[in-house]
Amino acid sequence: MKLAVIGTGYVGLVSGVCFAELGNDVICVDKLEDKIAKLQAGEVPIYEPGLKELIASNAAAGRLRFTTDLPSAVRAADIVILAVGTPSLPSGEANLSFIKQAAKEIGESLDGYKIIVTKSTVPVGTNEKVGAIVSEHTIHSFDIASVPEFLREGSAIADTLNPDRIVIGTDSGIARERLSALHRPLTDNILLTDIRSAEMIKYASNAFLATKISFINEIANICEKVGADVTRVAEGMGHDRRIGSSFLKAGIGYGGSCFPKDTEALIQIAGHVDYEFKLLKSVVEVNRDQRFGVIRKLEATLGELAGKTVAVWGLAFKPETDDVRDAPAFEIIQTLVDSGVRVRAYDPVAQDNFSRQLDHPRVDYCASAEEAAAGADALCLLTEWKEFREFPLARLETLLRRPVLIDGRNQFTEEELAGTSFVYYSVGRPNLS
Ligand code: NAD
Repeated sequence: MKLAVIGTGYVGLVSGVCFAELGNDVICVDKLEDKIAKLQAGEVPIYEPGLKELIASNAAAGRLRFTTDLPSAVRAADIVILAVGTPSLPSGEANLSFIKQAAKEIGESLDGYKIIVTKSTVPVGTNEKVGAIVSEHTIHSFDIASVPEFLREGSAIADTLNPDRIVIGTDSGIARERLSALHRPLTDNILLTDIRSAEMIKYASNAFLATKISFINEIANICEKVGADVTRVAEGMGHDRRIGSSFLKAGIGYGGSCFPKDTEALIQIAGHVDYEFKLLKSVVEVNRDQRFGVIRKLEATLGELAGKTVAVWGLAFKPETDDVRDAPAFEIIQTLVDSGVRVRAYDPVAQDNFSRQLDHPRVDYCASAEEAAAGADALCLLTEWKEFREFPLARLETLLRRPVLIDGRNQFTEEELAGTSFVYYSVGRPNLS
């Protein structure tokens, strides 16, 4: 099939590449000339394992092209996929300006029947708005469909090529048939539904996962007070198939480009129909507080923080990505520097993106994990990169001025710490000192 993907970000690029890998003819479009020029030159603008190789092989096979020319990409396609961003407005609502602008441009470019698919996460009713905008700008016929995206950054290619399910929301028989054919090589588990339910499935899924995270974080906070170990508790819960073991890892809370904005957006969606989503509001509040546990633990060991030096390992919101949108590290580091702390930060991949957004005279970005730790009064581990997990603790002990380790991701075990002099705080597990 011939596809145009509008918006070549984490979702558009990965989806476009994976559809090309399946043998489709794909043109990825973006407004950003720099990004498209890089992609045309074989460079990859984001860090995502395996992506570079797949771009290279599919571009070489002539199945994958990149352009800033939206009209010609739309005209060459049978199916147009919208994958532009839907960031939060200050109110928490989804900003639909990129979607609306792209819909207008698609409408102006149509030269015959197309299927217009929205992959971006959009509030209920948005696909209908897309349809209305396209109609205003064309005389040609088209169908619309909501096919929400569920990939996770860091494992985006594997998730796209082996999805748990594909959701296709449309009221058009032709769209249902062609989109099922497009996705069938990926999975037989295709859920056909109406547009509004498809839009809601995406928000409900992310809200539920965020709820699991805030739930286990609250259990962890109670574990700390009653002397239980949340990793054992989560393991015991996870063996129950009704609960499942995923998303039960206690830590510093969720971040990233999806959960924070999608939970806020769903609260707003509910509010617009006079429904107060009390549970989800609490999930968001718990998540906001959770990151400050790191600060409280630092204060518990170091006392007054002003004048201290703290090393931070990990800036991305999770490992295997350079995405720092809504990463908890921002608020943690900002709070530290506001308290008069000098921060020595390091992330193997996300450092450039992070330092562009947080430039402060008391934050030094270091060239290695070792350099960040050297001479610090304490180390906070905020992202569970393998590199940190594998760092020899005996070496770390000698690098730090004081062997204080605040493990925000529960990376180390009591056995590994036995025989060391670390003062060790994790999340929801007994402290060691
Ligand atoms: P992104 O910000 O990485 O990429 C969006 C791209 O769209 C940008 O490169 C931007 O320049 C481009 N763009 C905006 N308007 C355009 C236009 N009119 N024409 C051409 N290009 C245009 O965003 P993302 O992370 O890929 O997310 C896209 C959507 O997918 C969002 O709605 C998001 O919620 C959803 N989503 C994201 C993920 C994820 O893990 N990132 C997962 C599932 C769903």
